[in-house]
Amino acid sequence: MKKQLYHNEKLKSLSEMAASISHEVRNPLTVTRGFIQLLKSPGIDDEKKNTYLDLSLQELDRAETIISDYLTFAKPHVNVDLELLNITDEMNYVANVMQPYALMQNVSIKKEFLVKDSYILGNRKQFHQCLINLSKNAIESMQNGGKLVFKVTKENKKITLKLTDTGVGMSSEQIARLGVPFFTNKEKGTGLGTMVAFSIVKAMKGDIKVNSKMNEGTTFTISIPESVSKSKTD
Ligand code: ADP
Ligand code: MG
Repeated sequence: MKKQLYHNEKLKSLSEMAASISHEVRNPLTVTRGFIQLLKSPGIDDEKKNTYLDLSLQELDRAETIISDYLTFAKPHVNVDLELLNITDEMNYVANVMQPYALMQNVSIKKEFLVKDSYILGNRKQFHQCLINLSKNAIESMQNGGKLVFKVTKENKKITLKLTDTGVGMSSEQIARLGVPFFTNKEKGTGLGTMVAFSIVKAMKGDIKVNSKMNEGTTFTISIPESVSKSKTD
């Protein structure tokens, strides 16, 4: 099943997202603070103490995951620096960053770069964040190992990136909810990764599509206008 992604009605701007995400991070922090307060009560028994500590750690982990899905790299500022990004350099960077996580899950990463010296305009850290969020999902969809392919092609002044996994795939209902903030099928998911990725593609004047089949896998296709390279403008 194919789908054009990011409906305007459910996509917030990066700055609106920053506001809703800081709210989301504050919740686990407030909960943790409450437990720490309780730990100070006199005569508290060991069992209760352990429960409070476990819950606090769990909540802190949650805050950590929310932050890493949203801003491992990206600054939540409205005016981010834009630069010309060499597409294959950036894809190589992301493939390297994802390597340890892929290895942990028995996933091999394959690169098919059919372009050379091609540039797009964007914020480097946000672009990394976008691809990392999508790659993380791809790897997490292959619990029994598999293959993640990064493919780069160019046609009609557009650079196309394809991320294909051999994972569990998605139903049409799941696809329909992709990008909706806090929608997750994972026990410890944040439901922020795809929303953040879609917003970043949109900010780069690109578009993103998904094609997925249950038990076969998923392909995300991102298409971004090509920018004239530095050497060509000199
Ligand atoms: P999270 O990863 O925290 O659940 P995301 O926004 O990154 O949040 O993803 C939302 C949901 O979309 C996931 O829980 C998963 O069900 C589904 N999903 C996203 N990418 C893939 C993929 N490549 N393969 C299968 N399911 C996916
Ligand atoms: Mg995710």
